[in-house]
Amino acid sequence: MIQYYFANWKTFQSLAMVKKFIKESTKDTFMPNKMHKKIIGIAPSYEHIFIVHKKLEKMELLIGAQDCSQFLAGPYTGQVSIQSLSDFNLSFCIIGHSEARRFLGQSDELIALKFKLLLAANISPIICIGQSLQQQEQGMTLQVLFDQLDQILQFLQSYHGSTKIFIAYEPLYAIGSGMVPSQDELQEVFSFLKTLVQQLPVAKNIMFLYGGSVSGSSVSQLHAIKEISGFLIGKASIDFQELKKIVESK
Ligand code: 13P
Repeated sequence: MIQYYFANWKTFQSLAMVKKFIKESTKDTFMPNKMHKKIIGIAPSYEHIFIVHKKLEKMELLIGAQDCSQFLAGPYTGQVSIQSLSDFNLSFCIIGHSEARRFLGQSDELIALKFKLLLAANISPIICIGQSLQQQEQGMTLQVLFDQLDQILQFLQSYHGSTKIFIAYEPLYAIGSGMVPSQDELQEVFSFLKTLVQQLPVAKNIMFLYGGSVSGSSVSQLHAIKEISGFLIGKASIDFQELKKIVESK
């Protein structure tokens, strides 16, 4: 089974850092592809998509966006439309990231709308879900995850397209903290997610990612969870050597 390594560069990178990443990655002979059963996807911030696309286009990697607008076109200052993502041939788009939910107040309803529009444009959505530490301590984890996915699951009951769909589980306390959930916690969550989607017509096109403090040292324990088809990597992914370490580790 192919493993996906999605780099979410968030707002970490300056143009100089992006250029450094491009230089290092193009000089290096390392670049996994389908033959190696490993695929890298990069989500730069919008303003860096052009240069990443131009310079890394020939390499076998996916390029995507960190979010998109629910508006297709019109007077929406500051928004980036799905049409613009299509114009750049972007293959995936992250939606519902906890940072976008928290800082931009994005609701499950809005995220579900973006999800449908992305599928209509044949762009793979990476829908992020995750509970807070407080919700976890109150035993609400599975309920929170279910609520975040509910509208999307309803829509998928009658969706028959072939675009790949990624569900990224990112517990909030694991993001940027160096903390990774225990094997038991991860197993419980991913088994639950698997059962949620297994009756859907497109179940075989749905893949699960884990995100939150993925690093060269934490990734091997994550490979042990068989439902996980890949990772959504924040901070560590902006450094090409770190990303390489993650992708190479077994
Ligand atoms: P970190 O890898 O920096 O913990 O971030 C995870 C994340 O939010 C990826 O979307």
